[in-house]
Amino acid sequence: MPDLPSAFLPLLLLSKLVAPVTFRHHRYDDLVRTLYRVHNQCPDITRLYNIGRSVKGRYLYVLEFSDHPGIHEPLEPEVKYVGNMHGNEVLGRELLLQLSEFLCEEFRNRNPRILRLIQDARIHILPSMNPDGYEVAAAQGPSTSGYLVGRNNANGVDLNRNFPDLNTYFYYNEKYGGPNHHLPLPDNWKSQVEPETRAVIQWIRSLNLVLSANLHGGAVVANYPYDKSLDHRFRGPHRTSNSPTPDDQLFQTLAKVYSYAHGWMHQGWNCGDYFPDGITNGASWYSLSKGMQDFNYLHTNCFEITLELSCNKFPRQEELPREWLGNREALIQFLEQVHQGIKGMVLDENSNNLTGAVISVTGINHDVTSGEHGDYFRLLLPGTYTVTAKAPGYDPQTVTVTVGPAGPTLVNFQLNRSTSQVHPVQKAPGRGQGSRPKQSRIPKKKDTATKRHRGPA
Ligand SMILES: [Zn+2]
Repeated sequence: MPDLPSAFLPLLLLSKLVAPVTFRHHRYDDLVRTLYRVHNQCPDITRLYNIGRSVKGRYLYVLEFSDHPGIHEPLEPEVKYVGNMHGNEVLGRELLLQLSEFLCEEFRNRNPRILRLIQDARIHILPSMNPDGYEVAAAQGPSTSGYLVGRNNANGVDLNRNFPDLNTYFYYNEKYGGPNHHLPLPDNWKSQVEPETRAVIQWIRSLNLVLSANLHGGAVVANYPYDKSLDHRFRGPHRTSNSPTPDDQLFQTLAKVYSYAHGWMHQGWNCGDYFPDGITNGASWYSLSKGMQDFNYLHTNCFEITLELSCNKFPRQEELPREWLGNREALIQFLEQVHQGIKGMVLDENSNNLTGAVISVTGINHDVTSGEHGDYFRLLLPGTYTVTAKAPGYDPQTVTVTVGPAGPTLVNFQLNRSTSQVHPVQKAPGRGQGSRPKQSRIPKKKDTATKRHRGPA
């Protein structure tokens, strides 16, 4: 598209809203062409890559948006969207293609909000996690009787029941002690999961993601973890109890950001079901084991929710413009949530990056870790928190920090190597990293490494 005088831009935006011609269902080849086209239109801010192949050999393409595509910039958070994990739930796939076109066009139009979004975060979009299932569903077409046709991958496996189950491990640790984050995978995990699941796990382990949403259909509600209830095996999969994570308030807020920015999700009554505020805890709706959102939370730094976006899993093409308008603001606002809370660098006394340092917030039994550049991101609601950074061989450092409603609060840590067990650490004033108050502690054996924090923040 040629550059247009800026006076025409409002018209351009308007025409985008009313032009249904771009709204259609995209079969696999069409999807790939569309992704390449967006990349070619915005080559400076996009990168198209694949994370692996489906059972039938289709590439799982990801379109990345960033002002430096392909590069993690320290202190710039990473966020992802995943669509079409269930092959027959197709709205998310189409919305993510629309979103990709929208981000590209609005960046070119110098829309300040989109400029900021792409300059301040790195966005990864996987429109279809299950391209094989999609082709089966699409061959059948919209609104037919085969409600579940194409849901599973080509091996007949439901990918949202295919991730390693870490919940049982976490519930045990919560009771008896043990890690509350980055729970390890079984040694043979790669042989236990499907190719699509394996690709996604390797993908999310390779990036220090902060926030994510997984787009589904069949209901209209924003669903937050845990999906698996504590009493899953006793009460069966249906109508089990609320199973909150230690970050329950935060997850509810993230889910509400989506539901209230959505055209009608927040109204609660949709598809014959009622969800107050248009949100639900996963397990309190129905418990499911080995789902993707629980896995993200328990194995990585990524906070993921699951968005159910349409009553009809395969809406008719004519419904797509309305769906896009109903979801567009929500999709953007949710991405903007990646800047909530605190972030910063964890460095040693020589200002070297400390990777894998553990950041704990008193009162929230879920830690996060610093990435390979030494930066960390901790989503938090506004409030005052006691935050501790720890790394093996270093004295932990604790600060009190107030998080406001707008933008992240920068909290850097500079950890001193543990010298000896004998003398209390007295640091020379002015040697630290900045103006943050710093409270050093005497190293106490290894107790702090695994102890969980309890009590009010
Ligand atoms: Zn689904």
